Amino acid sequence: MIPGVNERITDKYPIPGSVSMILGLLESAGYEAYIVGGAVRDLLLGLAPHDFDISSSSYPGETMKVLSDAGIRHIDNASVHGTVTAITDEGNIEITSFRVDGEYTDMRRPDSVEFTRSIEEDVMRRDFTVNALYMEKDGTVKDITGGTQDLKAGILRAVGDPEKRFGEDALRILRAMRFASRFGFEIENETFRAMERCAEELREISAERIAVELNGIVCGAKASEVIRRCWKILSVIIPEIALCHGFDQQTKFHDRDCLEHILAVLDGIPLDEHEGAQPSRDPVLAMAALLHDLGKPECFRINANGVAHMKGHPEAGRRIAERLLNELKYPKKFTEEVCTLVAFHDVYTPPEIPAVHKVLCLVGPDLYEKLKVLQKADIMAHSDLGKKRLEKLEYMTRIAEELKESGAVYAAKDLEISGDDIISLGCPAGPEVGAVLDTLFERYISGKITNKRDLLLKSAKEIIS
Ligand code: ATP
Ligand code: MG
Repeated sequence: MIPGVNERITDKYPIPGSVSMILGLLESAGYEAYIVGGAVRDLLLGLAPHDFDISSSSYPGETMKVLSDAGIRHIDNASVHGTVTAITDEGNIEITSFRVDGEYTDMRRPDSVEFTRSIEEDVMRRDFTVNALYMEKDGTVKDITGGTQDLKAGILRAVGDPEKRFGEDALRILRAMRFASRFGFEIENETFRAMERCAEELREISAERIAVELNGIVCGAKASEVIRRCWKILSVIIPEIALCHGFDQQTKFHDRDCLEHILAVLDGIPLDEHEGAQPSRDPVLAMAALLHDLGKPECFRINANGVAHMKGHPEAGRRIAERLLNELKYPKKFTEEVCTLVAFHDVYTPPEIPAVHKVLCLVGPDLYEKLKVLQKADIMAHSDLGKKRLEKLEYMTRIAEELKESGAVYAAKDLEISGDDIISLGCPAGPEVGAVLDTLFERYISGKITNKRDLLLKSAKEIIS
């Protein structure tokens, strides 16, 4: 049961001592100080806050004086939104002065930030009512925007005029989707309409900020519901989503349109449980699920017999994924892994060891674990006829396990023979050594030789001579 206004939060996740201490110090110095933002929301939901932010009526210089007088080390980040960071044994705590945002002319950052002594004014610049709650050091919750009621009802509502708020900072549109996906909040209608109306402004937002929110959206438990409702908004960032919406795949292997299939796959990616937090999905898998079939519309063809097909869509999807993730400046490893999963999501080999071994080598044995999960989710989002592929996935999985148990290797460098060995057999140092190793590796994968040193040496001699 979520406590109401002026009720205290039960102590499932107590307020850290250092946070109470700083609140106490600021109050003793004659200022107001509260815990604000996500921590209050999370505590009310019975979740463990990942950080405790403090807001205070003291201006940054005054905050620093209070900390200095108490001998608390701190960093002056005042130029960054009026924040001072206190360094404590329990971690860093950000103390931000109450502020009102000035005019926004670029849809991204306020032109100026003004400090205020009024918590009411500070609260009004916050994005959503559930994020505009504040809490005294004894755990008493304060609410002037109706956030506790919205939290109880599971409603995400902009503070103030939604269109004005999304116009000021379009990132809030994606934040709304992320909170809805993570917590299962229903986005209130006026708020949702304003999100749609302001969606074009997302083009002004930096790639890095979009990437963080997009990750949050796809990893949340309610990702598919949020994307189903907000597909037009998401299409501003990923235009291919609009092409998939309502796209009839016209094959007997599918019984829903392309976007609905994608969302069913996303739903099929398992949620991982985390103590004190909402369940969430592996980001690489969740992103791969969202992007895996985006290449379908451009690959759609009807053959001479009148049968529809989308051959080549995994490669088209890989290209779309690569462009998008590079544009959004995702880390290289993340992009590579997602692209590999997209490229391989439709690869099903005959039930033969060499064929499966080859896939494992190309994908990598660790990422193959994720490929299996994606393929299972993909198959289960097909029509009953399409689900027959499950047999193929099962034998591929069995063969992959047998290979693992037998101590198989997945790269030429892991063979029981080295480049030095090849050279000592008379091969000139240089690219030829690599070529010999590659040939040995091919022979190994195709089952012609095993990874035994004497056999490899013998085979190498044959290749060189
Ligand atoms: P999380 O659990 O994801 O950290 P959070 O609500 O704490 O969620 P933060 O980004 O840490 O989110 O921001 C802290 C608080 O600052 C928010 O709760 C909200 O009140 C305010 N806030 C953050 N970003 C914005 C924004 N773009 N517009 C308005 N208010 C914001
Ligand atoms: Mg936070």
